[in-house]
Amino acid sequence: MIAFLSLVTTGLALAQGIPYQEEPCISYGGKCGYDSCCSNNNYVVGKCPSQAGNVRCCNTNPTCAYNEDPCQAENGECRLDSTCTDDRYVSGKCPTQAGSIKCCFDVQGVCGTTVQSLACDILNHNSIYLLPVNPSGVDDGADAASNMADACNNLMSKRSSYTCSSGQSPGGYVCPTQEVLQYILDVANNYASPSNQLQVNSITGACHSSTSRHYSGYAVDFQIKANSPYESYMSMCAVSGAVENLGPGTPGHSTHTHCAFN
Ligand SMILES: [Zn+2]
Repeated sequence: MIAFLSLVTTGLALAQGIPYQEEPCISYGGKCGYDSCCSNNNYVVGKCPSQAGNVRCCNTNPTCAYNEDPCQAENGECRLDSTCTDDRYVSGKCPTQAGSIKCCFDVQGVCGTTVQSLACDILNHNSIYLLPVNPSGVDDGADAASNMADACNNLMSKRSSYTCSSGQSPGGYVCPTQEVLQYILDVANNYASPSNQLQVNSITGACHSSTSRHYSGYAVDFQIKANSPYESYMSMCAVSGAVENLGPGTPGHSTHTHCAFN
């Protein structure tokens, strides 16, 4: 029975993952970390209140990986880069730790079950064609097809990191939002067919203006082909409550529509 309880406790500790920062410890000037990683057992109790009992507020930087604000704010985890699945990490977001500790974006479940379910519906929809590279031709795993494959796999979607005439895309990862995914499905269900597919050019990836809503997961671009009912794409965008609804007539949008929410 004791062995059984011990296993359960270990399981909970593992499920807890990397210690994250909480306000009482931040205000105190410490860092939440495992007590065994606080140098010289130099820690205070009760300042990392929502985590397991062995996560304490260390007086100095813990000697094992701990989460930090720039990474934590984007739902990543500061860990040894070699433990980040498929190299899904970004540098520079765990600034007080060794260079080998990077912000990993391989944590599943961050975007929620609704986003996951909608993404799977999009991925498997026979009236939708998800572009498998960015419209620019850059192949970086941030294309529309990869975005939906990641989201359907319960992961965040990748953003591109390259420059274009409009600006510089920021890199990293973000959750596509429920609003934009539902809009894609609504257009596909109403205005597309297997023989006249809705082509999705870009969701969270590619390069846009520096403040683009694509980067926060709120925008989608559809290709305008010869037989695309793009006016209907735009009407659906308007009735869906979008805050940006662009297409032919707007500079830079002669070949695609852009619909964004907030
Ligand atoms: Zn766009």
